[in-house]
Amino acid sequence: GDYHTVLAENRRMFNELQELKGNIRVYCRIRPFLPGQGEKHTTVEYIGEHGELAVVNPSKQGKDRRRNFKFNKVFGPDSTQAEVYSDTQPLIRSVLDGYSVCIFAYGQTGSGKTYTMTGPNGASEEDWGVNYRALNDLFSISQNRRDSLIYEIQVQMVEIYNEQVRDLLLSDDASMHPVTSTSDVLELIDVGLKNRAVGATAMNERSSRSHSVVSIHVRGKDLHSGAALHGNLHLVDLAGSERVDRSEATGDRLREAQHINKSLSALGDVIFALAQKNSHVPYRNSKLTQLLQSSLGGQAKTLMFVQLNPDVSSYSETISTLKFAERVSGVELGAARSSK
Ligand code: ADP
Repeated sequence: GDYHTVLAENRRMFNELQELKGNIRVYCRIRPFLPGQGEKHTTVEYIGEHGELAVVNPSKQGKDRRRNFKFNKVFGPDSTQAEVYSDTQPLIRSVLDGYSVCIFAYGQTGSGKTYTMTGPNGASEEDWGVNYRALNDLFSISQNRRDSLIYEIQVQMVEIYNEQVRDLLLSDDASMHPVTSTSDVLELIDVGLKNRAVGATAMNERSSRSHSVVSIHVRGKDLHSGAALHGNLHLVDLAGSERVDRSEATGDRLREAQHINKSLSALGDVIFALAQKNSHVPYRNSKLTQLLQSSLGGQAKTLMFVQLNPDVSSYSETISTLKFAERVSGVELGAARSSK
């Protein structure tokens, strides 16, 4: 039907190299239904070629039933990791030219943030997420340029939990680790993930309630002119954005929820202020925005993956995720509505 035609058109679009304008872009990705989930009803009604998305509220009739959104790009449930990466690659390349880039994955727990950033558990190369593909590109491009430029690449990995920053590579003071290949980095990430589990009662739960930040610092030296350049890439898997029922959450759970809320809205405020070119950008309101301050704003580039679970049972989380996305995309509410 129409929906499949739209998806096919969407796929064709992925093959075109995107012209990247502006410093903040928002890509929406809708994960597929997972096998064995029983009867499947989607809230996604329409995916357009140019970032249009329509979702429907199954319990409403009439004109309030459908809501339209517009982003830089919408990846439907059939999109592949390679397709998603092909629209991310130009940003990764720019890191080696001396740019700072932040890539975030935002969405409720289970919406595919880790899938997009890292890939499924034990992923084969085809299923690799943005992180691994980005690292591969950084190393292979730096190798290709070795006749004219020498690069040094270092990695850092931290977790932010309850507004506390923890170095996952457990270094004393040198939190930067020199690396020369993707496998070096994969080993370090592995160490980091193991450390992340230490002391956490339930690893899965903990990881959905903390932000993880893998930072790659690139220093390049032009062999002919001697000129130096610095680039950064921050890959951020954010804590789950789901709202916690205040009447039910108590103690630790409530405290976690409040910290997550605070830091996600602080991030939203910073990106919104940058998108609006406000003179005051409120970096100081959370540990996450403080940590990334020098890589957000100025010439830095930001990409937000907004992840959606298509199931009707997630409708209200989907709408709140889309509202966050609409805000950070810097398009004023109202003006963001598609004309359809
Ligand atoms: P989150 O990090 O947002 O909590 P996950 O990345 O763990 O969510 O995804 C939840 C589940 O959905 C996992 O089993 C994951 O493998 C699966 N999944 C997510 N996105 C996709 C996708 N695009 N294709 C196939 N499976 C996916």
